[in-house]
Amino acid sequence: MRALIIIDVQNDFLTDGLLVVPEGEQIIPVLNNINHHFDVVVATKDWHPATHKSFARNHEDREVGEIVEVNEVPQILWPPHCVKESHGAEFPSDLNTEVIEKVFWKGTNEDIDDYSGFYDNEKLNDTGLHDFLQSKGVTEVYVAGIALDFCVKFTALDAKSLGYKTFMIEDASRGINYRPNDVQNAITDMKVSGIRVIKSYELEKVFSGDY
Ligand SMILES: [Zn+2]
Repeated sequence: MRALIIIDVQNDFLTDGLLVVPEGEQIIPVLNNINHHFDVVVATKDWHPATHKSFARNHEDREVGEIVEVNEVPQILWPPHCVKESHGAEFPSDLNTEVIEKVFWKGTNEDIDDYSGFYDNEKLNDTGLHDFLQSKGVTEVYVAGIALDFCVKFTALDAKSLGYKTFMIEDASRGINYRPNDVQNAITDMKVSGIRVIKSYELEKVFSGDY
């Protein structure tokens, strides 16, 4: 069984949002176009309390982009984004959400950030995504969404280490490129870890085993 995992396609990461990922909205038609290829479609949402420690404003005298330690774990500071139940945390209205069977929530604990769709950054808690995929008999996962160089990458790396045959759909994903080459480095990291990086037009070839 094949699953598409749509990572954090939420208003705050798109134009007019609070943490804009360049060209983020360009992936929406791509996702809408490919979602029927999969046996299971799930999504994650970044879903933070307003007091989340990944927000620069929740630390004294700290700026966005600085790295601080939260409980001895390095944390990059972001603008506030995806506060739970806010408009910014919702899916964009043009994303086809009817196909999404289940949504998994990330970053809900104010003290720990959560880049992967499977676990928080300290792997103290899991989101339930692995159990759900197991219950559906999923063996192949296709990861896409926002941001390629953070949450997409860490979800794909965890999927691979959990034993799934793992693909990342590049044109259905966009990155922040916070530091120059972050996206390119993320793609390299994924490939080195055995994740296949593909384009959406290659899906049929992949499914037929020719890839
Ligand atoms: Zn976040």
